[in-house]
Amino acid sequence: MRNGRTALVLAMLVGWTGCASRPAPGVTVALADGEAPAFAADADAILAELEAWRGLRFREDLVVELVPASEAGEKLNGWYESRTKRLVVVEGKSERMGRGVLLHEMFHALQDQHFDLARLHAEVEPLGADAQRALRALIEGEAMLAVSEIMDYDFERHAHLAKEGPIDAARFEKIFHYGYGLRFVRALRDAGGWEAVDAAFASPPRTTAEIFDPSRYLDPEPAVDQPGLPPEGAVGPAAPRGEFEVRLFLARSETLRPRVDELAGHLVSELAWSTGAETAWRLCFDDPRVAEAIRAESDALGARLVAASGPPGGIVTAYLGSDAD
Ligand SMILES: [Zn+2]
Repeated sequence: MRNGRTALVLAMLVGWTGCASRPAPGVTVALADGEAPAFAADADAILAELEAWRGLRFREDLVVELVPASEAGEKLNGWYESRTKRLVVVEGKSERMGRGVLLHEMFHALQDQHFDLARLHAEVEPLGADAQRALRALIEGEAMLAVSEIMDYDFERHAHLAKEGPIDAARFEKIFHYGYGLRFVRALRDAGGWEAVDAAFASPPRTTAEIFDPSRYLDPEPAVDQPGLPPEGAVGPAAPRGEFEVRLFLARSETLRPRVDELAGHLVSELAWSTGAETAWRLCFDDPRVAEAIRAESDALGARLVAASGPPGGIVTAYLGSDAD
């Protein structure tokens, strides 16, 4: 707790029967100053809604901290820390926004109480950025699905990149975590109910490619061993970067940006090498026209591209900018 600030505490114990062996977990809302926003008084109802929607019960009490916007980082509306269990909602937003953030962060607490989010993050830590992004999409996607269905909020309608101008990498990443994550979780639930989502927390997707196309997670096929030599100048071992990085790369071009879903659907394999000063990236597509479309945009992509042919389709070798960029 912070020092030097009085905290009004509204205790809202939910489901207390007085006779059960253990009371049902409840929500305590800790206010910074002043009056509680209306949504704070509904925290108990939100807890019950989340349980009913997901078919899981909270196991531990929650403490929700309302903090002034001046104390929160820029653009943050709220957060949940799985390590410390701290759950924060930033004040001063609209009533509907505050309610949505409260619901979203409380849902992370429900996930944490059942699936141990800190353990999941620790397990994925040594596996690299692509696996970390895939896990985050599972976690954020499910929380955003809860918000969109319980509050009837069409998140996907708002999840678009600007058509023009330089690519906004932070927004691209948000759309991946929340938008593609939401679709991934919904696809799992459509395929096998909440049991399938539970199974994904037991055995999380390890590549962003699975998030973009949930059938790769639900019905995995062995990786294609694509023939082809390393790009000229490549040194050291090759390692995949992940489909997220490929899409982010393609989206640098305003021409390719609206076609990224379509183009990435033809991606067969990708491998990156170091060339010393630069990164060399070999992208293989099952359609030579895709390779050609990418090669035609080399200037906009800010990369030197060399196209090579190789069965069964096109191979594009992309020399990205130096690692220091
Ligand atoms: Zn979240």
